[in-house]
Amino acid sequence: LLSADGSLGVTIFEEMTTLAMSTGAINLGQGFPDEDGPAEIKAAAQAAITAGANQYAPGKGIPELREAIAAHQERFYGLTPDPQTEVVVTTGATEAIAAALLAFIEPGDEVLTFEPFYDSYGAIIGLAGAKHVTAPLLAPDFLPDVDAMESAFSERTKVVLLNNPHNPTGAVFPREVLVRVVELARKYDAVILSDEVYEHLTFGVQHLPVAGIPGAAERSVTISSAGKTFSFTGWKIGWLSGPAHLVAAIRTVKQFLSYSSGTPFQSAIAVGLALPDEFYSGIASTLQHKRDILAEGLRAAGFGVYTPQGTYFINVDTAPLGIRDSVDLARKLPELVGVAAIPVPVFCHPEGAERTRSLLRFAFCKKTEVLEEAAARLATLR
Ligand code: PMP
Ligand code: GLN
Repeated sequence: LLSADGSLGVTIFEEMTTLAMSTGAINLGQGFPDEDGPAEIKAAAQAAITAGANQYAPGKGIPELREAIAAHQERFYGLTPDPQTEVVVTTGATEAIAAALLAFIEPGDEVLTFEPFYDSYGAIIGLAGAKHVTAPLLAPDFLPDVDAMESAFSERTKVVLLNNPHNPTGAVFPREVLVRVVELARKYDAVILSDEVYEHLTFGVQHLPVAGIPGAAERSVTISSAGKTFSFTGWKIGWLSGPAHLVAAIRTVKQFLSYSSGTPFQSAIAVGLALPDEFYSGIASTLQHKRDILAEGLRAAGFGVYTPQGTYFINVDTAPLGIRDSVDLARKLPELVGVAAIPVPVFCHPEGAERTRSLLRFAFCKKTEVLEEAAARLATLR
């Protein structure tokens, strides 16, 4: 979101949430759940506050949480990061992304992402003075155009920044895509930074961490967040794991961004990460049901619907309704029908914005009655 003169504007999430609040619209724009996560996690945060866990945590995170993160990576993926040297707790995934990019890139380097891309990627790459190169994800399944991805790599590619499952498209990358990314990262000696915040939010397909692909581990840093998995987006607890030399460089940068992250929330999230497998399968199936309700409502309202395999976002094509410009529509929609959404072109550079001009993203991490009401309101657009 760096504009042509290099300035940073207001994020689209802030803009649309403010608009939703001022118009009283249902906010299916910014992705945050309208119900809190598990009661035992909340109770653990309250207990930690009462017990006096209220001063700075160690910069790399409290030991219980780093151990819980390592145990989670082993339980779900068979990966075994050392909690002492290969795991760092961050202030949300946002800080992990920023600290990692700042650690690895110098002005003039290139960072490769797919497009559309999550908004903070473009901003941090710009702030670091690097060049942001993109390869498109193409409808209907939003998987990469492999040839375009290959030609987007160059000798200057320092980092390939993956996001899987992917925001905003909801794509979940199959193994062959990840294998190709790893081959190219090895060929060009690039670091793979993998934002996997939606790792547990997939529907009938399995999330594969890129770090588990042969040849990837020594050059991959994996990022995740308690906001998505446990529905506590406001706690801003994230983390990353990867080989010690890469993690040490990121830790050095993190010291000067936030120094450390919220102490009582860290011990509560350690409790969350130890929840049984049924918790994890439960969040995915609950969300899949919500996805299906909203998808059906959006179809009935006349949109072209791209059913996502992961995340809590659905993309629709507004063209079947005779609407070509989703940015313009998103600005009017709260006033027009009382629903807010995010236009996909804001996650793109100009060429990609043209390609995604009629795409609009709706979040479905909301109560079913809210989704049904939103769908009924959208049906009046016709
Ligand atoms: N990466 C992606 C792909 C996201 O969708 C989000 C959204 N919340 C983040 C990072 C930021 O996560 P956090 O709130 O933990 O900073
Ligand atoms: N990740 C959330 C989304 O994509 C919002 C995060 C934010 O507001 N920065 O909607």
